[in-house]
Parts: sequence; C-alpha cells; structure tokens
Amino acid sequence: MSLDSLITWAAHFGAGERIEFVCAEAPAPERGHRAWKLVQAPGCVADLPLEHPLELLALDVAEIGVRRELCEHRDRLDARLELWATLFAMADHELATPPSGKRKRAVMQAVNMPVVERRSLFGLGRKDPRPDDAWSPDTVDTSQQRLRAALRHLGAAPTEAGESDGLGLAIVADGCRAAGQCVTACPHDALRLVHLPLADGSQQSDLTFDASLCDGCGRCIEFCDVPALSSAGSTSLNDLLSATPVSIATLRTRRCERCRAPYTPQHEDSTLCPVCAERRANPFGSSLPPEAIERLRRMREEGSSD
Ligand code: SF4
Repeated sequence: MSLDSLITWAAHFGAGERIEFVCAEAPAPERGHRAWKLVQAPGCVADLPLEHPLELLALDVAEIGVRRELCEHRDRLDARLELWATLFAMADHELATPPSGKRKRAVMQAVNMPVVERRSLFGLGRKDPRPDDAWSPDTVDTSQQRLRAALRHLGAAPTEAGESDGLGLAIVADGCRAAGQCVTACPHDALRLVHLPLADGSQQSDLTFDASLCDGCGRCIEFCDVPALSSAGSTSLNDLLSATPVSIATLRTRRCERCRAPYTPQHEDSTLCPVCAERRANPFGSSLPPEAIERLRRMREEGSSD
C-alpha cells in the first residue's frame, strides 16, 4: 500500500496542515474539526506504511492524528500507534488526537489526492511553492531507507522508549567464509563485504552490518550456505539512527585465480576456490565432491547402526 499520491500532495500543499487519518471502512467519518484535513486510508490505518507519517512531518505537515474510535481492528491499530508515537517522540513530535467537531468535511483519498487544491483555483490559501532543493523522499528507496531518511531529516535523536524492539534483526556471524551470499540476498543493502588487498597477495575481507537498514526479513540467514549468520535478537528503534555499519566478521581470503571469487584458503599455496579445485581434480565429474562423499559416509554409518 503506497501513499505516494499523499506524499506528492503534501510536498505541494501540506506545509502547516493538520492531517486526520481514518480507515477505509469507517462509517460516516466526515464530521470533525474544520482545521483538520480528513484523509481516508485505502484500508485499515494500521496497515499504512510505517514511514509515511514521518515523511509527512518531514514535509512540514504540522500535525498528524488518527481517528482511532472508527477503526474495526483496534488492537492492531493500537500497536501501530504505539510504534508511531515512539518514532514521533524520537523526532520531537507528538502523534495528535484530532479534536471532535460538527463540521462536514471533504474526504480525501490517500491513494488519489488532488493535484490542485480547489481553494487555490480561486486564488485562496495559495502557498509559496517549496524551493527546488527542499527535502523530499526518494521514492526509489525501500520502505526502511525512506523511514531512516525521514528521521534523519527531522533531526531525530535516541530516546529511552526507542530502546524497545525495532524492526530488524541483530545479525551476527560465526564461521563466515566471505562467500557474499548474504550480501546478494539482502534487499536493503544492510550487509556489505569489503576486500582490502594485503601485501602477500591475499586480502582482508570485512563483512559489515548496518542495523539502521535491516527490516528483519531473515533472507541473509536463509541464504547463507555455511551457515554462518544468525540473529542475536532484534535491533532497537534507536538503531534506525545509527550512522555507522559495524563489522560482524573479518577474515583473510584470496581471489580464486580461475573464477575470481573470494575464498578462505585452507593452506598457504592454495590458488583455487574449493569448487574450481574440485573441477580441476575431477574434470569429467566422475566423482562426488568431498563434502558429498563425507555426507554419504555419515548416512551409511547412521543406517548400519539402526
Ligand atoms: S534480515 Fe533481511 S534486511 Fe536484515 S540484513 Fe538480513 S537480508 Fe538484510
């Protein structure tokens, strides 16, 4: 559920406005306070992308609130509101409770916001255009990257409440071989593998983890063949503000002289990665790789002991 239409509207007309979110199924939400713009989500407000209210704040929207009493999924919504309240507090803002009122207001659809304000057609309430270099979200970024960018733009700082469980996994590595499968698997660039050449022709490989970009999908753990990666719990919301990736594995590797992939040498004069070494020793594929032979031997032993 992307609300880029709402974000575009906010970039043009949102400065100083108050936005009141309401769920799609809310019955007759029109009545309310005239100072608040009523914006209907395409579903439950609890399912809105986490980053959008923070982006609205970063686009100078004055206040954001939710009509909680009209939601049919109150438990889910309350969990979401708690998360937003913590993120807002980190950015020194508060999630507002829109005041009640009798005024009948236009219902704006978050996925289809007006490209021109009706009032501005009559020359009313026209706002100065935002300068060309004003902040705006990068819509190419992932949700996690957008949330981090909005928090940074708002000058967010760590809070006590922000120490609570965050969105990602605290990834740790044990027995890493610098194969880089985790780096390829991560959709958010939270893991990086850097190789520094050493004087002896080998290289120092450093696997770094950026907790502010991890959304906890677990793909890195799933795709690591070794397996070397695991989770030591969750990241915290304050980790969204961390600026420096941390090193989770450092090891000496070489580049295979045949396929150029980095590998951990088993002995000093090794020049080929295990796969290329196996292919060279067994060019016609008539024997199984040593790992498979070892696995078969173990299976046979387990079978004979039953
Ligand atoms: S859990 Fe997902 S987002 Fe986090 S580092 Fe692993 S692959 Fe990347």
